[in-house]
Amino acid sequence: MSALQPARGTQDLLPETMRRHRRVSETAREQARLYGFAEIATPIFEFTEVFARPIGEHTDIVSKEMYTFTDRGDDELTLRPENTAGVARAILSNGLTQSTPLKFFYSGPMFRYERPQKGRFRQFHQIGVELIGVAQPQADVEIIALGHRILKALGIADRVVLELNTLGDPASRTAYREALVAYFSGCKSELSEDSQRRLETNPLRILDSKDPKDREIVDTSPNFQQFLSGDSLRFWVNALGVAYRINPRLVRGLDYYTHTVFEFVTTDLGAQGTVLAGGRYDGLVELMGGPAMPGIGWAAGVERLAMLIDEPPGPSRTVVLVPLGEAADRVALKVGEELRNAGLAVELTYSGNLQRRMRRADRIGARAAVLIGDDELAQGAATLRDLDTGEQSLVPLAELAGRLKALAG
Ligand code: ATP
Ligand code: MG
Repeated sequence: MSALQPARGTQDLLPETMRRHRRVSETAREQARLYGFAEIATPIFEFTEVFARPIGEHTDIVSKEMYTFTDRGDDELTLRPENTAGVARAILSNGLTQSTPLKFFYSGPMFRYERPQKGRFRQFHQIGVELIGVAQPQADVEIIALGHRILKALGIADRVVLELNTLGDPASRTAYREALVAYFSGCKSELSEDSQRRLETNPLRILDSKDPKDREIVDTSPNFQQFLSGDSLRFWVNALGVAYRINPRLVRGLDYYTHTVFEFVTTDLGAQGTVLAGGRYDGLVELMGGPAMPGIGWAAGVERLAMLIDEPPGPSRTVVLVPLGEAADRVALKVGEELRNAGLAVELTYSGNLQRRMRRADRIGARAAVLIGDDELAQGAATLRDLDTGEQSLVPLAELAGRLKALAG
């Protein structure tokens, strides 16, 4: 451990990366708005019970990935590992259960104690949507279409495939679970240690195992071919032109899913291929102590999407102020404010000779430099240098904003 390093699994988002993140979240927010989703933000930490029961005690998240702590007031708190439980809690806390359908978009950091690797962090960011109060399959379709539309707007739709499955209702899931337990028990000793444990706690999770030997056993395991509302869903997804493949092994890492589950997966990120994933969670709100309310949503990993997109355009080019001398320093501060009032992005150079200040202008790719020296001051003017052409001219201070705006196009 070194105090000068970020904690394991966390990272600084320097401006270039931050621009990618913003591109992802702003694109998602904008597309979600087109479907009537409004942004919500819930606290980054909640009482541990908000997550523990809904996500499921035997899931990886709750059993080994949560950042849980007791605060100074002896409250048991957890940094949110995902946001669906928090949104459901917020709906109950704010008495919103009568105003369905509810449509929320969110964006923010999540925390899971995982082994860091490419595309996997301990603090990561998700964008996501929740559509609560609608049992009709149109909701499933719209939710998936929104995910697809965002990937398209980000220019990566042709690098992902949509995988679909259904987990059925609780009764069929119980029956399937029993079939799986019977099957895996027959070859228990060949399973990985983790999967042997899952056999006792959460057998569906074995389907999700990354262990190569487990994969072989999983490949011949019973198939959950009960596409209940799935037929109409498949019809709609076809009609929308979203290509998909049925993946009967697709289970999700959280207990609260029922019926539809889906993931948009890419092969471009190595093992961490899932970029956007979700499903229907009809039992969740009731499980949390509210009325029975259906719901469906997804979450997407911002880091993974940010790695896939093309580099977004950089910030618009600035104007650099180059005052030379004490009097000019004072005037430049004022000129800077006036240019910003006119909507121009302006950077002051703070020290150094002309050459050094011009190097700075060059390094940040400025569009123009405004040089203010004693001669210029005496005439109430500044020298405007077009940094693309090298042309320069003396411009009265009062006309500077207009001239610079014309340059910026
Ligand atoms: P995985 O199988 O990759 O662990 P998950 O099923 O745990 O994913 P979800 O809970 O469905 O993931 O979260 C939705 C999305 O959030 C994932 O598809 C992924 O893009 C992203 N995500 C999840 N965990 C992490 C993490 N530790 N670091 C970065 N992104 C993550
Ligand atoms: Mg995970």
